[in-house]
Amino acid sequence: MYRTLGIDLGTTNSVVAHLRRGEPEIIFNRQNQEATPSVVGRGRRGELLVGSTARGRLALDGENVIRSVKRFVGRRFRDPQVQAALDELDYKVTAGTDGDVNVWFDGRSYTPVEISAIILHRLKEDAEQRFGEPFQRAVITVPAYFGERQVAATQEAGRMAGLHVLRVINEPTAAALAYGMTNEAGDEGRTVLVYDLGGGTFDISILLLVPGSVSVLGIEGDNLLGGDDFDRAITTALLEDIREEYGSDYQPDRRDRPRIASAAEVVKIELSNQEASDVVLAGLGAGQLVLETVFERPRFEELIEARIERTIELTHKAIMQANLTVGDIDEVLLVGGSTSIPLVARRLGEVFGPKRIRRGVNPMQCVALGAAVQSALVSEVECPECRAPGDLAASACSNCAASLLGGPRVSCPGCHLPVDPAADACPKCEHVLEAAGAAPVAAAQAAPAAQTRGCPRCGTPAAAGATACELCGETLGGQAGAAAGATSTAAEDVGLRCAGCGVVNPPGTEVCASCGELMQVTNPFDITPKNLGIELNDGRLAVIIPKNTSYPTSAPVSREFVVSGSGRQRLEVAVYEGEHEIAQQNELIGHLTLRLPAGLGGRTPVDVSFGLDRDRTITLSVRIQGGDEKTVKLERVTLDPELKVQVEDQQRQIESFTDRWGAELTEAELREAQQLMDTLDDMAAGQTKGQSVDAALERAQFQLKAQRWVRGSEAYLSLFLHYCEKHLDPSDLRRLRAVASELRLRREAADWEGAMAAAAHADELCDSLGHTFRMLTMCNVYVNQSLVSPALAQRIMAELRGLDRAVESANMEAANRHNSALLLLYAEAQRELGDDPLPEQVGPVRPEEAGPR
Ligand code: ADP
Ligand code: MG
Repeated sequence: MYRTLGIDLGTTNSVVAHLRRGEPEIIFNRQNQEATPSVVGRGRRGELLVGSTARGRLALDGENVIRSVKRFVGRRFRDPQVQAALDELDYKVTAGTDGDVNVWFDGRSYTPVEISAIILHRLKEDAEQRFGEPFQRAVITVPAYFGERQVAATQEAGRMAGLHVLRVINEPTAAALAYGMTNEAGDEGRTVLVYDLGGGTFDISILLLVPGSVSVLGIEGDNLLGGDDFDRAITTALLEDIREEYGSDYQPDRRDRPRIASAAEVVKIELSNQEASDVVLAGLGAGQLVLETVFERPRFEELIEARIERTIELTHKAIMQANLTVGDIDEVLLVGGSTSIPLVARRLGEVFGPKRIRRGVNPMQCVALGAAVQSALVSEVECPECRAPGDLAASACSNCAASLLGGPRVSCPGCHLPVDPAADACPKCEHVLEAAGAAPVAAAQAAPAAQTRGCPRCGTPAAAGATACELCGETLGGQAGAAAGATSTAAEDVGLRCAGCGVVNPPGTEVCASCGELMQVTNPFDITPKNLGIELNDGRLAVIIPKNTSYPTSAPVSREFVVSGSGRQRLEVAVYEGEHEIAQQNELIGHLTLRLPAGLGGRTPVDVSFGLDRDRTITLSVRIQGGDEKTVKLERVTLDPELKVQVEDQQRQIESFTDRWGAELTEAELREAQQLMDTLDDMAAGQTKGQSVDAALERAQFQLKAQRWVRGSEAYLSLFLHYCEKHLDPSDLRRLRAVASELRLRREAADWEGAMAAAAHADELCDSLGHTFRMLTMCNVYVNQSLVSPALAQRIMAELRGLDRAVESANMEAANRHNSALLLLYAEAQRELGDDPLPEQVGPVRPEEAGPR
């Protein structure tokens, strides 16, 4: 069995836990703290700092202290949530080339996924150092409102950090698991409200617990409300105190501001346990001023009252939206650091009655502990490549041999991104990774305990050979074997204790082997965090599955639309997720196009249906009355769906190019096309490997254009030679043949520059011989490839034969006559071809509202 880390990757703080002797347990970080601030910074010598040391650099190097990056994960720059969060940042955030958010750190731009990967890698390293065993798998929690792309982005960050992400679960579900509440739920179930007030966000979730399952009934919240607001309120109050004493023109400078802010947080935290907090701030105002005051709890409560009231209002709203009443809520769980504020529990107690408020588990630890519990409830591990279910004890997929563990990672010395130590260079900054330098770090990662061995409970360093911790008495025995670098652990070591009889069962156990108690907890129903719908012809979003609908859906949800359009057009059904009335203001999830049946008139009914599976993957079906039916699964990807559409379009073009020319392509050309397809496949699957998708698309477009042009030129040249041979001068013929063989050679050598130059030369040469030859070539092509109507083809053929006879008998006058006739027929053929608009040139149509019948 492999150890799995439960990770609460928070906006403000991240906490990790694991299962030990059947119980979830927090793993402290290298600074011996239970929570690691989700902050990335750089030290004086440019070294990477993560956590409280990074946060400590705020006063000195604010623009290189990256905080709250979770707000940007999986979102686009123009997302209103991103725009709203921009105001409060010290660091630079810009729109990335792919429409995503770019965060600037230490002179480089990073994606929010990369910053998250740096944090996750640090959490993993610290846990390994503390516990003495590698953690190659993780369960990561996300807010219940996270959409498709945000979940996918979180998984990608885990993969980058060297973790195989077994599951991504909802934070409120994790909280309930930490309380072990699922075991207490009677047959009729219990309704639990999770009130999560963190540093910068407030989330409410209503859960229904029945034995063996947790379902989400409703979610609500405010993304810009939390402990930071309370800190700011105290900061403002402290500034007032200073001004009262020293005059109203006092303005805090760059050094004072962060000092006052951190004093404010200390005040807030102290007031959770005591009635008053002493503040002493010396050396303010360039060393001139001293603030000495006592901050009392009532003053603090007055400052934050309005914000706490807002959380109560949102709580009522969430209950109402779930079609429940306050009386239906059996219990309220307090989660998040800010719920330690006494006013919170007091206000909730007034609403629900103090008995229903549960606070048995530390609110800062709750979510991570639940993630650890979840790690023992997972019964199989899904292959990241082929999606086949695998055995938990396996390290590689039995179907495709892909690894079921996270890969080894070292922090790149150039850009700090976690990278594979076996790579030659960092995929992001191209820093050359010296094998010699990287190897010891990799070895340390495989067996970190060989270097540091501390008590897993309190962190006190232990002497070699010690069997118990000197400070807390914790047994150290089990670690000796681990220190040797063994990665596999006995199943019971990573299993969960049965609440009924106390026996520890291996992970994935359904019922306790000893007492038969149900161990498994599933999420049979979750609810959609946002509306899901399609774009109508007028640009509005037609909602098919509204926000707060439970899934997986037992049967697909369908809605009828109509479509007006001719048989030449395509019907496009684009799926969006979001709250905005205008479809394109929301997140594009994917799309599907169908050809409309021929001879369509008026308004034709179209049936669109959505099915949602356990993973929230959408199965989209579109059925046109009297026409096609098409069904696709819209896979979750991290790539911006708009770019994905472009990538897929490019792939279709490459495919049709290779289909069209097939056997005529050289091996080099086929290889090149395959490589392009592979790169684009990776991109479509969200694996950009540090490359810009825009740049890759541009390269692919250029290459395809070059190949098409070269291929087209050569084809034309060979037809030109074939049909005009007997009419051409021997010297012209020689020159044309030389260019043809040059072109062929370059193509075979995959020398695109050379091939393009030769193609240009060929085009020029053909043109220089005059319009008549082009006309002759094309007339032959029209006839032989049946591109024109049979009547016209017959007339062209008659003239071509006449011309041949005239040339053979050297009758120049007759030859000229046939040429003139052919010129007219050539023009006629072009008109005939031009009258037929190519179907794809007409834009697609979208469904319209069916309207009342
Ligand atoms: P997130 O889920 O956003 O990462 P946390 O749950 O870690 O947030 O909560 C962090 C917030 O909790 C911070 O604003 C911090 O100041 C606040 N906090 C932590 N402990 C206490 C306490 N004892 N009293 C009041 N606030 C606290
Ligand atoms: Mg949290």
